[in-house]
Amino acid sequence: MPHEIPQTMGQQLGRRSWAEPWKIKMVEPLRVISREARGRALEEAGYNTFLLRSDDVYIDLLTDSGTSAMSDRQWAGLMLGDESYAGSRNFYHLEEAVRTYYGYRHVLPTHQGRGAEHLISQAVIKPGDHIPGNMYFTTTRLHQELAGGTFHDVIVDAAHDPQDLSPFKGDMDLAKLERLIEEVGAERIPYVSLAGTVNMAGGQPVSMANARALRELTTRHGIRLFLDATRMAENAFFIQEREPGYADRTIAEILREFCDLTDGAWMSAKKDNLVNIGGWLAVNDDAIFEELRNLVVVYEGLHTYGGMSGRDMEALAIGIEESVSDDHIRARIGQVRYLGELLTDWDVPIVQPVGGHAIFLDAKRFYPHIPQDAFPAQTLAAELYLDSGVRSMERGIASAGRDPSTGDHMRPRLELTRLTIPRRVYTQAHMDVVAESVKAAYDARHRARGLAMVYEPKYLRFFQARFEPLGAA
Ligand SMILES: *Cc1c(COP(=O)(O)O)cnc(C)c1O
Repeated sequence: MPHEIPQTMGQQLGRRSWAEPWKIKMVEPLRVISREARGRALEEAGYNTFLLRSDDVYIDLLTDSGTSAMSDRQWAGLMLGDESYAGSRNFYHLEEAVRTYYGYRHVLPTHQGRGAEHLISQAVIKPGDHIPGNMYFTTTRLHQELAGGTFHDVIVDAAHDPQDLSPFKGDMDLAKLERLIEEVGAERIPYVSLAGTVNMAGGQPVSMANARALRELTTRHGIRLFLDATRMAENAFFIQEREPGYADRTIAEILREFCDLTDGAWMSAKKDNLVNIGGWLAVNDDAIFEELRNLVVVYEGLHTYGGMSGRDMEALAIGIEESVSDDHIRARIGQVRYLGELLTDWDVPIVQPVGGHAIFLDAKRFYPHIPQDAFPAQTLAAELYLDSGVRSMERGIASAGRDPSTGDHMRPRLELTRLTIPRRVYTQAHMDVVAESVKAAYDARHRARGLAMVYEPKYLRFFQARFEPLGAA
């Protein structure tokens, strides 16, 4: 197996161990409530971890979105906020950082990633258009649909198999894409929607070779190629590690080479870019930028703040620079792997190979006795919380939502519970506690019964849906 998880980071590779490239300057106390109290909290939250109060959570692995720890430099940057309504100096720092590290010509701030997705979708998608992508992302697809488009998943088949060890399971299947172009016509495809890494597939990376082939194919058909750059710095790590010719290139160099193959990008800066709130949208095309710069005023704010304060733009500019450091990325992904390695040693079923930002428990293999319509991944998130106060989230049938044409549940092949690791927040000892809790839930797996959905909101239902436990079978 070419990309087997190392047993311990140093030993198996015959190297000395390394540690996080930072030390802790300020601490935030954690609280653990009793199992009884957790049971009550879970019931009040309708068995949905999104509806728990964070005070009732011990180790919070709900998401890596906006949950990272900022550096001392970023905190210092907050004090340099220029809160002028227009033309804040912090905007120009942000613009410069995006141009330097991602390489796009035109930059707009947005309040977060979905703000950018909304703008790009409204600007270039017409009703009846088709948007191919490497697996869907919840907010990305919804904005494409709200603009009148139809999303098509053209990711490689391996992405849907949690046991397939291919190194680049985020790649697009070019044959599937060609077929779609033939079927609907290139003129009905405003852009190809490429994401690196692919969150819903388990944080799986896209190869540079695939991006290059996509660039060639889309250019040939006159179709734009836009990038969801949310975790693209982490994606660059996998290219450095696995793709021939990249071992000696820096994360920053790889990131830039990849982005240079695309026409623009949107970003949830709450992920790779190490801030608690923020996003941006960047394109090379002058005409599209003109349209976007006008739209941003309607939905987000003036084009030099787009829903962000000056201080937040400053922290983001600094965060971008820190996020492409090789030491940072290695430690970040190393911690995710450490947790994956413990669970693999205990034969707990997880998505392999381990991706960039999270461990994805394979709820279908965890609970083979619970049918998908009884929400196995949601059940597992609830059981984990009950066991230890560790908060995870569902990435399965609840997240997938309903088919807009038939109204039936979409039934994704992947039914996963995600343990998402915030950046620079928890220590290795926290990972040990998490692994032991997962193990305890695994040992008690036969007792789990599944859930019924008793309240279902119309949009992005997984955030606010409520559930009730099913009785004994
Ligand atoms: C989080 C995320 C988004 C949406 O960004 P928000 O900042 O949450 O609005 C878009 N794409 C991907 C891949 C994400 O992970």
